[in-house]
Amino acid sequence: MKLTQHLAEAKKTIISLEVLPPTKGKSIESLYASLDPLMEFKPSFINVTYHRAEQILKKRSDGLLEHVEIRKRPGTVGICAALMFKYGVEAIPHLICGGFSKEETENALIDLHYLGIRNVLALRGDAAANEKTFSPHPNGHKYAEDLVKQIISLNNGQYMEEDILDGVKTDFCIGVAGYPEKHFESPNLDTDIAFLKKKIDLGADYITTQMFFDNKHYYNYIDKCREHGITVPILTGLKPLSSKKQLTGIPRIFNVDIPVELYNEMMKCKNEADCEKVGTEWLLMQCRDLLANNCPVLHFYTLSKPDIIYNVLKQLF
Ligand code: FAD
Repeated sequence: MKLTQHLAEAKKTIISLEVLPPTKGKSIESLYASLDPLMEFKPSFINVTYHRAEQILKKRSDGLLEHVEIRKRPGTVGICAALMFKYGVEAIPHLICGGFSKEETENALIDLHYLGIRNVLALRGDAAANEKTFSPHPNGHKYAEDLVKQIISLNNGQYMEEDILDGVKTDFCIGVAGYPEKHFESPNLDTDIAFLKKKIDLGADYITTQMFFDNKHYYNYIDKCREHGITVPILTGLKPLSSKKQLTGIPRIFNVDIPVELYNEMMKCKNEADCEKVGTEWLLMQCRDLLANNCPVLHFYTLSKPDIIYNVLKQLF
């Protein structure tokens, strides 16, 4: 079922989760082990992230170094199919522009459609590890809006090969990313939202936000988006904090603020268990406030800390 349809029919706030594919060589069982307990809360959707290939330097047999491309976390499409099969839950694959030609993207969309997947999150992706700034594949997309255009074209039965007449129309519900504290490349929040509006005007159906640790950023973002004429649902991105290392790592990687109260509480912690307790209490407080404000979806970045999310959900529902 499409996410938007699910939202329209939902009588209460729905739960969704986001997971990463295991690193290459690891079993999918570790993913199931972290998801199994959370299924008690009947998540409506599970997002699966996409990870572009990275260039690494490898020593050849003659001793010289050469650049080789490796994908450390392959399997997004297969994992989506496996999750749908195992749990009967809707899976939402992330699709990125970085490293993909338009043709590869079209083929991926055809695979997803064959598998009965009806939701995708359309993203640009970040710069490759060896690049300073994002550069698109020579035959790929520069911005997420171009990827949205391609998905909409396929939804209209328009394939890249012009001689395909009467092409099957896909029917993807399209999500895009939004940044309550603005995207790090954007000069200001209003300009960022103006570009977000372009993705919505092209036909994207909903927005999932970057993580935030102060709900005020989310409420302010909704107000600003509505002022810009964006009316689609805006889903929360919620991440549990569980270590002091994250207090500086998360702002650096995701360009988001850690509120001073959260920082101070975390800094008082003597061990990992204390940090997890603070992270749990903070997330619980965020969720209670979001529920009180009729937030449509609690979307959790599950990543490696499913226990915290389990404890939070257990206290909420
Ligand atoms: P865009 O919408 O293309 O925006 C990128 C920047 O360009 C912004 O600053 C925007 O304001 C600006 N911009 C947009 N359009 C234009 C235009 N026409 N002209 C000039 N400027 C423009 N990354 C992954 O690699 N894999 C994932 O699975 C993944 N999942 C994510 C899930 C969520 C919910 C979020 C919030 C992010 C995720 N990311 C993921 C990270 C994301 O790919 C990066 O944040 C990336 O830098 C931007 O992606 P975007 O889709 O927002 O890009």
